[in-house]
Amino acid sequence: MGKIKKNIVLILLFYSIACFAQTRTFYTNGSEDVKKISLTFDDGPGKATKQILEILEEKNIKATFFMLGVRVVNDPETAKAVAAAGHEIGNHTYEHINFYTYKNEDKAEKIEKELLQCEKVIKSILGIQSFLTRFPYGYMKSDAIGAAKKHNYCLINWSFGADWQDISAEEMHVKYKQAIKNGAIFLMHDLPKNKKVLSFLETFIDEIKEEGYKIVTVSELLNLT
Ligand SMILES: [Zn+2]
Repeated sequence: MGKIKKNIVLILLFYSIACFAQTRTFYTNGSEDVKKISLTFDDGPGKATKQILEILEEKNIKATFFMLGVRVVNDPETAKAVAAAGHEIGNHTYEHINFYTYKNEDKAEKIEKELLQCEKVIKSILGIQSFLTRFPYGYMKSDAIGAAKKHNYCLINWSFGADWQDISAEEMHVKYKQAIKNGAIFLMHDLPKNKKVLSFLETFIDEIKEEGYKIVTVSELLNLT
């Protein structure tokens, strides 16, 4: 009996260590030792989504789309097209509330509600249980990390993003290109205002590949299952 108990303790210990290794919740990049990169698109589905899908298909790569619940409800067909093309779907909350400036007393509950409301939509419309989330504006304070952890999500921010900046498409392209590195997670948005990104996305993907990087989904980059 003593030996069996000891074995059980060892087995439990092994699994708790294995689980512990997977319980990291917050990421901004992948391993710096591997030549892999992820492209992520936020706030969709939007009017630029289909064009982005065409580019990704032509370049034969998979990206991660952090979708807004309200936009999935408004444009389920585009959201389904993203999932059907084999791209990864992440939860970008329901309404895109800025929790850096949200002052109401119900903040903690609201954070959880926004996460779960988007989860419900992704599940019911796309049939997917996502385990990746990104809060609007990259909000990553302890209440967001706590809510992500509680509901079995990994909170994913980014190593570089600049497509909202008031600069020319050329300058933007240069900035993105300079940020290419091992484990990079690039942030872009699939909104119509994002014509600048669309103007250099194909070239940017080619440049990443030419430098010897493999473009993968966030879960593959981070070895998450
Ligand atoms: Zn956003």
